[in-house]
Amino acid sequence: MIPSNWYNIVPDLPVPPPPPLHPATREPIGPDDLAPLFPMELIRQEVSQERFVPIPQEVLDVYRLWRPTPLMRARNLEKSLGTPARIYYKYEGVSPAGSHKPNTAVPQAYYNAREGVRRLTTETGAGQWGSSLAFACAQFGLECEIWMVRASYDQKPYRSALMRVYGASVHASPSSVTQSGSKVLAEHPDSPGSLGIAISEAVEAAASADNTRYALGSVLNHVLMHQTVIGEEALAQLEEMPDVIVGCTGGGSNFAGLVFPFLRLKLAGEIDPVIRAVEPAACPSFTRGRYAYDFGDTAGLTPLMKMHTLGHDFVPDPIHAGGLRYHGMSPLLSHMYELGMFEAVTRSQTECFEAGVRFARTEGILPAPEPTHALAETIAEALRCKESGEEKVILTALCGHGHFDLAAYERYLSGEMEDFTLPQERIDEALSGLPA
Ligand SMILES: *Cc1c(COP(=O)(O)O)cnc(C)c1O
Repeated sequence: MIPSNWYNIVPDLPVPPPPPLHPATREPIGPDDLAPLFPMELIRQEVSQERFVPIPQEVLDVYRLWRPTPLMRARNLEKSLGTPARIYYKYEGVSPAGSHKPNTAVPQAYYNAREGVRRLTTETGAGQWGSSLAFACAQFGLECEIWMVRASYDQKPYRSALMRVYGASVHASPSSVTQSGSKVLAEHPDSPGSLGIAISEAVEAAASADNTRYALGSVLNHVLMHQTVIGEEALAQLEEMPDVIVGCTGGGSNFAGLVFPFLRLKLAGEIDPVIRAVEPAACPSFTRGRYAYDFGDTAGLTPLMKMHTLGHDFVPDPIHAGGLRYHGMSPLLSHMYELGMFEAVTRSQTECFEAGVRFARTEGILPAPEPTHALAETIAEALRCKESGEEKVILTALCGHGHFDLAAYERYLSGEMEDFTLPQERIDEALSGLPA
């Protein structure tokens, strides 16, 4: 069954999260500050104190194209590891775009269309968010304009082709059609781009045009809330409660979507699972970033958000998990991490691809590079169980398939893939640019 409500964890937290600040006044921002970028209903959801928000019928009708998604027991993987642990995965790759991102793209497009918006702008890294928003805009008759990070635009031509099939227009970022993009190009004509730069371009384009709003695919409270359909379904589907829940974190939305409903039960004292976020060693915002107010984009156009950040100037090494290459982290998850509500670890990319290949050979599904981080940690946990003899129940989010990432798998298989070490000086340098 598809849930009829999204779950908002904010009112259940022991301490409320710190507010976003206006970049000029440094005062907490109000709804009017966000109105040029987002429709009113999403602004309302961003600050909502309601524990459950009903999912509109029009959104449920689109969710029905692929939801509920399967919850599977990875018996072949368990057998190949020789572990007494029981491994379950919630598979979001069955959506039209092949990841969890349509769970929020669809309601965002719906609320914008309902409030008379005609066009949405956004950024995309690896292309999963761009194709999700392009699909959702097609469902509700909206135009869609996308800035795709140059490096991915060149490496993944099929992702931008998919966005165009859904009717979107796509620019490589940095582009010459915005001031933010032109400024970067003037200094670095060969810039490979970054999510931070692409966000600046999409925000600028939305703020300067009529009937146009901006959509963000992760990080914000309303996005995390929309993703809770994942965890609500998993709660209903599981026959036994997990001892360990593992998910990968870029901006944090698939992780939050899976774990928030379980955290509701944990906060109520009903269950007590260990909850673990996994981030790439090349972009470790929880484990090596600073908890501080920073911009969400490179140009400094967004509100200041208190989050775990590597600095808005940080450009991560070109790992293949494009969806995890973001300098910041969800402010809500950052706050919860400070409260000790979950742990975080890092994994480097070759061990992740090793886990992805093992998963494909045992369970048959080719994982996207991002969730291979969660799989590498899941496998490590299952092997610890093998040592100790513990029959733990492990739950993980398999948040997307890797059919557009086969070039990366080929590089792994041919031994060309490298791991990057991230020297502390690079983090310190980017952190020195944090706003005072
Ligand atoms: C975008 C994306 C991510 C990273 O974003 P989160 O908000 O952290 O979930 C991870 N996996 C896939 C498949 C993605 O498309």
